[in-house]
Amino acid sequence: GANYPRAEGATPALAQWFVAKAAHPDALVFFRMGDFFEMFFGDAETAAAALDIALSFRGEHRGQPVPMCGVPVHAWEAYLARLIRQGHRVAICDQMETPEQAKKRKAPTIRREVVRVVTPATVTEDGLLDAARPAWLLALAEAEGGFAAAWVDVSTGGFETMALPRGDLGALLARIEPVEACAPRDLAELPDLAQRLPGRIAERAPPRDPARLLREAFGVATLDGFGRFTEAELAAAALALSYVRETQAGALPRLDPPRPQAGAAGTLALDAATRRSLEILRDQRGGTEATLFAAVDRTLTAAGARELAARLAAPLAEVAAVSDRHDAVSFLLGAEATRMALRGTLKGAPDMARALGRLALDRFFPRDLAALAGGFARAEAAADALANAPIPPPPLIGASRAALRLDPALSAEFGRALNSEKMPARLEDGGVIAAGYDGELDALRRLRDGAREAVAALQMDLAQAWGVASLKIRHHQQFGFLAELPAAAGQKLVQSPPVAAGQPLSPILRQTMANAMRFTCTALAELDRKVAEAGERATARERACIAHLKRLALDQGTAIAAAARALAELDLHAASAQLATEGGWCRPELTERAEFCITAGRHPVVEAVQKRARGPAFVPNDCDLSPGRRLCLLTGPNMAGKSTWLRQNALMVVLAQAGLFVPATAARMGLVDRLFSRVGGGDDIAGGRSTFMVEMAETAAILNQATARSLVVLDEVGRGTATWDGLAIAWAVLEALHDRIRCRAIFASHFHELTALAGRLPEVQLARMQVREWRGEVVFQHLVGPGASERSWGVHVARLAGVPRPVLKRAAEVLAALETRARAGGHDALAEELPLFAQAAPTAQAAPASPLHALLAELDPDTLSPREAQDALYRLKSLA
Ligand code: ADP
Repeated sequence: GANYPRAEGATPALAQWFVAKAAHPDALVFFRMGDFFEMFFGDAETAAAALDIALSFRGEHRGQPVPMCGVPVHAWEAYLARLIRQGHRVAICDQMETPEQAKKRKAPTIRREVVRVVTPATVTEDGLLDAARPAWLLALAEAEGGFAAAWVDVSTGGFETMALPRGDLGALLARIEPVEACAPRDLAELPDLAQRLPGRIAERAPPRDPARLLREAFGVATLDGFGRFTEAELAAAALALSYVRETQAGALPRLDPPRPQAGAAGTLALDAATRRSLEILRDQRGGTEATLFAAVDRTLTAAGARELAARLAAPLAEVAAVSDRHDAVSFLLGAEATRMALRGTLKGAPDMARALGRLALDRFFPRDLAALAGGFARAEAAADALANAPIPPPPLIGASRAALRLDPALSAEFGRALNSEKMPARLEDGGVIAAGYDGELDALRRLRDGAREAVAALQMDLAQAWGVASLKIRHHQQFGFLAELPAAAGQKLVQSPPVAAGQPLSPILRQTMANAMRFTCTALAELDRKVAEAGERATARERACIAHLKRLALDQGTAIAAAARALAELDLHAASAQLATEGGWCRPELTERAEFCITAGRHPVVEAVQKRARGPAFVPNDCDLSPGRRLCLLTGPNMAGKSTWLRQNALMVVLAQAGLFVPATAARMGLVDRLFSRVGGGDDIAGGRSTFMVEMAETAAILNQATARSLVVLDEVGRGTATWDGLAIAWAVLEALHDRIRCRAIFASHFHELTALAGRLPEVQLARMQVREWRGEVVFQHLVGPGASERSWGVHVARLAGVPRPVLKRAAEVLAALETRARAGGHDALAEELPLFAQAAPTAQAAPASPLHALLAELDPDTLSPREAQDALYRLKSLA
């Protein structure tokens, strides 16, 4: 645990630190000390380690040196970003006055207050946000038989809720990938939650009257207009809201009204293992490059990319809703000119949703105002592009178009108000508001500029009166306008003043430096005051104009957010159409029947990678899991393309039900309610479970959850254990899928015995990866054909991998012998030999009574540590 001593006896500044820390015990306190943010005690130790910066000491507290580290204020965002990314919360304790003001009050130190708590989910700065992903804060509440969840994206205002059964939490976490969570104490300790979040869960009690809190926050008399919520959903939503409030020290973000999500019924269920296996948003190493998202993303805006990620993470499970999306894509595919015009407009369009979010929190920059103005114009242009379409738009496009029409007065006002030439970086730099927008501001600016001109005139007068041609009037941050002279001329001026004392132009010495001296005079001081005053008034007036614009935008926040969403959806639909034209993708036909028929399908990620590498073209493959052939049992050597085909068919479901087109020449698929994919490395080394244990746990999850409307894609079930065991399990699973669950499934196996058994199951079709042998070398054709693979090509693959020749030769001999024996008995005979069918015949497998065999029988590879395994090897060796 971090160490935090008691506060008594602290210096005045440190006493302030203790107050801030007590109010924010689960945050690191960034304590402003002049040009640095400093951290003390345990915070300093944590931050120094997290940021890899020096830990030092400052003064003493209760006789002990105070651990301290600090980051410069000018670079604090970068340090903050690193802490936030590691899941830390940071309380910003800022100076609320200048040292002069404190002195005037006779206070022992500057007043400091926590102005904001920055947490992973409540940041708004672009530098701290991932432009293409939402930053969800998840709040949980207990409900009967499960949970309710609410998730909020402070940066865009997104707000959704869902009631979910206990077992579905993992899937929800995998879907929304929250960056932060808060929950009542009991739930905060859920292992699922704790494992999946980068930082600690904030423990918060649920607010007392959740419905009232929500009604007040959204200014409505009833929540009915937002949809139907369970009590627990309201509690979760209110908890999210109050947590966000707590982090913003009073200011409230603009949030959309919460939208209850349909839960299991409306969306395709994808558990965490399936998402990992299919590499939808993240690849198995946690990266984003070789993912479905990366392969299909053709969006042009950050908001469009976020929408795409959200859809791929939560595909739908309703034919009508999916078809609406396909209609939108079809429309933009057909109306090419409209699509091009639309994409021309979208390219480089600003992120209105996030700009609006920063405006609401009063943490905005001039560029955010410009982003809104630019966004208004783009919305208008996009609406015009759609208005010119040759055919009437389908419902989703029509709805987007309607949402794009913002109040023209708003857009006109922003257009007139903002300085279109050059936006300053910060509001305090001035120059945000254009000339001609506000008469009073113009007048004040003229006054300020007039005074500046007067200063220029005075410089000439002074040069003449003081007889120094090189005299220059310069403005200094601290001292205002001063006349600067070379040292020698200055000395002369002091010794024999050219103007008698008491006159407007009499020199008054202010500063002496090595080679220059700075003077003022009452005339200059008077002008300086005028310029400063006019400047201050102009700044204040500009602030008022900006506040006015902000109010206008926030008054229409809901409409602006809707327009931003419409742009994002149009971007996505146009991008999907673009993708379809580029790669020859087709519109999938979705039905309510239990069918699945893909013609010439491809794997979008593998195909994209091969295209980029200019490798051989991807070989398209069909897949038909119609009634009568619902289950496909696939065999073939390693490296022949089995897992690619398995995954590509699962990806078809994700793409189609997310509302995108699919990489195939034709696709007809019955709606899938749950998709399970277990292909590729399922090792949970970090979780401490053996491969086999993980595999069985995941298989169990499928057998417990799959329905007749599900699609299951399984690779090599039973590979993690000894042959007979594995085969037995694989068979039992296949049988369960066939007889009990009756779902569509593709099942890859290297147990060739399985193919012999499959004849007993009427709905099973056999498929194999075609391989040719050419001059003793294996040639993978990547073609899926009917039938079973004749033999395992493992020996050939071993050769490809560089296994030494003598070993290969010996393996080939053994293989030939085994095959001869198998053929003599016939495949069916082999199958009958299995313990699975010969239940009463353990004799064939009975352990001979040698000590070596006895020891072997005792060993359980799945429970051995590497150390124990080595010991066992030595013991076996000693018995041999
Ligand atoms: P398996 O699962 O049978 O071991 P993979 O599916 O991993 O084989 O495929 C091995 C490699 O073969 C892939 O990395 C890919 O480069 C290539 N491949 C697979 N399927 C195809 C295909 N249909 N067309 C072209 N290349 C393919």
